[in-house]
Amino acid sequence: MTRRCDEIGAHMSIAGGLHHALERGRELGCGAVQIFLKNQRQWAAKPLGADEIRMFHAARRRTGIRRLFAHSSYLINLASPDPSAWAQAVTAFTDELERAEALGLSCVVIHPGSHMGAGLEPGVDRVTAALDETLARTSGCRVKVALENTAGGGNSVGRTFGELAALIDRAARPERIGVCVDTCHLFAAGYDLRTEKGYREAMAECAATVGHRRVLAFHLNDAKAPLGSGLDRHEHIGRGSLGLTPFRLLLNDRRFARVPKVLETPKEPEPAADLRNLAVLRRLRRRLGR
Ligand SMILES: [Zn+2]
Repeated sequence: MTRRCDEIGAHMSIAGGLHHALERGRELGCGAVQIFLKNQRQWAAKPLGADEIRMFHAARRRTGIRRLFAHSSYLINLASPDPSAWAQAVTAFTDELERAEALGLSCVVIHPGSHMGAGLEPGVDRVTAALDETLARTSGCRVKVALENTAGGGNSVGRTFGELAALIDRAARPERIGVCVDTCHLFAAGYDLRTEKGYREAMAECAATVGHRRVLAFHLNDAKAPLGSGLDRHEHIGRGSLGLTPFRLLLNDRRFARVPKVLETPKEPEPAADLRNLAVLRRLRRRLGR
C-alpha cells in the first residue's frame, strides 16, 4: 500500500455496492474518497437498506478513510426555470442529502445548475429557493451542501467565487452551505492558476467572497482546454494546461491543510492512472503526514 496523505484521494466507483468505493480507495492509499450516492444517470433508486448502511460504516472503520463525501447526480438542476423540473430536482437532492446523512458523509457536492437562458439573476433566485427548501426538509441533518464552481460554459450559475458567495449569502441556512473548488473549472472560467501570483489572486478572491472556512472540498484536476475556454475537460495532473504549479501551491497551502482533495481525472487505465496522479500529488506535498 502506498503512503497515506490524510486529505488526498479520489472519486471512487460504487459499482457492486457503496462500501466497495472504500475498499478501492484503500488499495490506492486514499485518505479521502468522493462517491456518487446512487447511479447518477437515473432519477429513481431504491431506498438505502440497513445492511448497505452497516456495511459502509464497517468499511469505513476497516479502511480508516476518514474524509468521505458525495457528488450529486448530474440530472439535478436546482436553477431550472421550469417548475416541475425544479420540483423534481429538489426532491432528488433532498433524497441525496438524506442518504449522505445516513452514511455519515460530511457534504454533498452539487453544481448550482443551469438557468437555461432565463438569465443569471433568475437562476440565482431558483438555486437559493431550492437550497432553502432542501435544507428545510432535512433540518435535522448535519450533512452540508458544497456548491461547486463551474467551468462557466453555457448558462451555468456559479462560475466565480462571487456567484457562489451570492448563493450562500441569500440562503436561509448559510451555516449548512459551503463550496467545493475545482481547479480545472477555475481555469476554464478564466482564473489563471499557472503562476504563484494568479493562484494567490484567486484564493484572495475566494477569501473575500466565500471565505476560506467555507471551502469544504477540492477537486484536483488538470485542464485539457486553454484558459477561459468554458470547457469542462479534465486531464491528468501535470499533463494539461495547468501544469504542476497550482497543485504544488494548493497542497502546501496551510489554510487548506485539512480540507479533503480528490481527483476526478480520467480513470483509464485502471488503477494505474489514479496511482500515478496520486503519486504526483504526494510528491508535490512537502510535509507528509501532517
Ligand atoms: Zn469537479
